[in-house]
Amino acid sequence: MKTVRPLALALTSISVISLPASAQEKLDVVASFSILGDFASQVGGDRIALTTLVGPDSDAHVYQPKPADAATMTKADIVLTNGLGFEGFLERLTRSSEAKATVIEVSKGAALIEAEEDGHGHDEHGDGEKHAEQDDGQYHGATDPHAFQSVPNARVYVKTIAEAFCTADAAGCDTYKANAAAYDAKLDQLDKDIRAAIAAIPQGRRTIITSHDAFAYFGKEYGLTLLAPVGVSTEAEASAADIAALVRQIRDKKASAIFLENVANPKLMEQVAAETGIGIGGALYSDALSGPDGPASDYISLMRYNTATIADKAGS
Ligand SMILES: [Zn+2]
Repeated sequence: MKTVRPLALALTSISVISLPASAQEKLDVVASFSILGDFASQVGGDRIALTTLVGPDSDAHVYQPKPADAATMTKADIVLTNGLGFEGFLERLTRSSEAKATVIEVSKGAALIEAEEDGHGHDEHGDGEKHAEQDDGQYHGATDPHAFQSVPNARVYVKTIAEAFCTADAAGCDTYKANAAAYDAKLDQLDKDIRAAIAAIPQGRRTIITSHDAFAYFGKEYGLTLLAPVGVSTEAEASAADIAALVRQIRDKKASAIFLENVANPKLMEQVAAETGIGIGGALYSDALSGPDGPASDYISLMRYNTATIADKAGS
């Protein structure tokens, strides 16, 4: 009996010591919003400690950082951002938190789409020029930031994330590359499935309406025309003229369905539906995942859900 006791003590002390050591080895990663959080966790697995700033069903365009976010940024090794002005809050947060993290803009290298200023391209300043100025520190810029809505671009994002993790944690590089390759194969299949589903929608029914211009990449990649009363950021509000223009476009192009979004107020689309007589075909997940119990709790589920919802309402 006397020999058992020291052994038990020794084992206990080893396990106590080993816990903080393994926690320290983890790469501390901050993802700006939920879709990047999913990509990061697919690539990083349990080698990373992940914090996502803008959570499920939340809108990154208008997010207001919480006091805890600054502390999260300060201790991060890597901050993953979409970039292109998608996260209006992030530059200020990075500055105020004195973060020493490497900030990776994962949309770098993706195939980008130049945005119309407000989704309709009209000249609200009346001087014949389009403007991309930062009058209130927010984004009204020139490139549509929603590049993640095309699967080929998502594959670029994932590759960029794997490279960033390899640079920061060389010992884990083989794991990151293997995880990224396995996930990339799933994205490849996803891309093929979306192409087939959208191709089955008759040409004349491929114009659909959403709340804000979040789906231009999806439309360009898979062959849909998407119209919206609000531009590429939800912080803009639709004017009566914007809505009247949209109603005219809907009639001209014989739009087949109107969709709400998980991050946008439904009131405007209900008004457009009432004015045009086109029914609301459910809600699409635009700039955020659903919560864990929802139908879009990861990126692949989100894209499958959106595709099925569009194919169901537009295709019939
Ligand atoms: Zn958006």
